[in-house]
Amino acid sequence: MNRLQLLAFIVLLFTPGISRTEPARDQHVILISIDGFPAYLWNDPTLMVPNLRQLAANGVSAKAMTVSNPSITWINHTTLITGVEPRKHGVLFNGLLVRKDGVPPVIEQWADKSRMVFAPTLYDLAHQAGLTTAESDWVAITNPGTINWSFAELPKPDDAVVKEMIAAGVATEEEIAWMQMGPNRKGVAFLDSMWTRAAIHMLETHKPNLLLYHTLNTDATHHTYGPRSGPGFTALEYADRLVGDLLAAVDRSGLKEKTTIVVATDHGFKKVTKFIQPNVALKEAGLVKGFGPTVSSCDAFVMTQGGMAFAYVTNPARRDELIPKLKDLFSNTEGIAKVIDGEEGPSLGMPKPSENAGMGDLILYAADGYAFRKEMTGDKVVIPSENYAGTHGYPNSDPELDGIFIASGAGIKKGIVLDRVRNLDVAPTLAKVMGLTFPEIDGRVLEEILEE
Ligand SMILES: [Zn+2]
Repeated sequence: MNRLQLLAFIVLLFTPGISRTEPARDQHVILISIDGFPAYLWNDPTLMVPNLRQLAANGVSAKAMTVSNPSITWINHTTLITGVEPRKHGVLFNGLLVRKDGVPPVIEQWADKSRMVFAPTLYDLAHQAGLTTAESDWVAITNPGTINWSFAELPKPDDAVVKEMIAAGVATEEEIAWMQMGPNRKGVAFLDSMWTRAAIHMLETHKPNLLLYHTLNTDATHHTYGPRSGPGFTALEYADRLVGDLLAAVDRSGLKEKTTIVVATDHGFKKVTKFIQPNVALKEAGLVKGFGPTVSSCDAFVMTQGGMAFAYVTNPARRDELIPKLKDLFSNTEGIAKVIDGEEGPSLGMPKPSENAGMGDLILYAADGYAFRKEMTGDKVVIPSENYAGTHGYPNSDPELDGIFIASGAGIKKGIVLDRVRNLDVAPTLAKVMGLTFPEIDGRVLEEILEE
C-alpha cells in the first residue's frame, strides 16, 4: 500500500457510516456475574436453577469456562470485561497491591480504576461510542469516568442512583446504611438483594445499553460451608431467583427482543481442610519480625490468594540473596506443592515483577486440600481450617476452577452447548453484539454462537 492508498484507507476507516461496524444504539447487553459458580455444579442436574436453565435452553451454554490466574474475583471480572490476560489488564488482587520497603505490601482496594486497570474495558468502549453504561456491584471500577449510572459495592447515601432509588421508594436510607462496613452491615444475601434491586431500577429507569451486575452470596457461602454443601446449593438457588427478578424486569421494560444476556462467573471453588501460614515460616526464619500476629518489620512477606500465594522481598538490598533462600524454604514447607519464579508469570498469563510491581517475586502453589492465609495465628505453619470449607485462587488448569457461561437473547443462537469457552472471549463477543471492536485482544469473538 502506498502513502496515498494508506491515506484513503484511513479516511475510509474514520468516515461515519462507512466503517464496518456501528455502535448499536438500539441494543442492550446485560452481563451477570454470579461469584464463585463452578462449572461442575452447573453440570449437576440436581442443582435447581430454573431461570438459568431456561436461559441456557433458549440460548447457548458451555460445559466449562476457563478463567484467569490467579482464579480470584477482581482479576477475573477484569478479564471478563477487557478480554485480555492479567499480564495486560494489570489486576492481580482484589485491589491494587502497593509494595513498601521493610513492611508488608498493602492492598488499596478502592484505588481508582485508572491506577489498576491498564486495558480498555467494554464499558469504556461503549461510553466512548456514545452508548450508555451502568453497573451494580461490579469490581475494579472506582471512579471510571465511563459509567453513566453506578450502584457500588459500598453505595454512598449521596450517590445519584441511591438518591433516585430512595426517591422512587425502591430503597430506604436505613437499607443503604445496612450496606456500609461496620457493625451494622447486614449479611451478604441482603446485600445481593440490594444490588439486584439497583440493577432492576437502573434497567427500568435508564435502559442502559450495557448493564454489569454481580452477586456475592454464592462466594461467601462456598467459603464458609464449602462447594457441594447444603448451604452452597441453597445460595446458588437464591442467586437464580435474583436473576429471575432481573429477567422479569427485562420483560416488563419491553426490551426483551433487543436484550442480550450473558451469565458468567469469576472462578470455581475447591474444598479446603488445612491452612498454610507461610508468614509463620518467614518468622521462624527471622525474616518477619513482630509480636504475635503483628508485623513490625520484614525482609520478605507473602500475600495470599487462597490456592496461590505471591512472595515479595521487601528489603530490596537483600533481593538477590533472598529469592533462592525463599524458594528453598517454601519448597520444603508442608502444603506447598510448587514454587516458581515470578519471572515465569507470563506462562500463567500473569506479568513479570518488572512489568507490574504487584506481581510476586515468587509464586507458591497450594497442595490439594490446603489453602494459604497471610495471617500468623499461633506458631504453626499448618493449621486446620476451622469454620472455613472452601476457596479458589488455584491455577486455572484445575477443572474445579472452571466457571459457568450462558448466553441468551437478542443475536444469540438457540440450543447450542459448547464444551469450553474462555472468559477472555466474553468481552470481544459482547463488543461485537454492541457494534464495537476492541483494538487489541487476547480472546476471540465467539462467532459460532452469534446469529447472522
Ligand atoms: Zn469471586
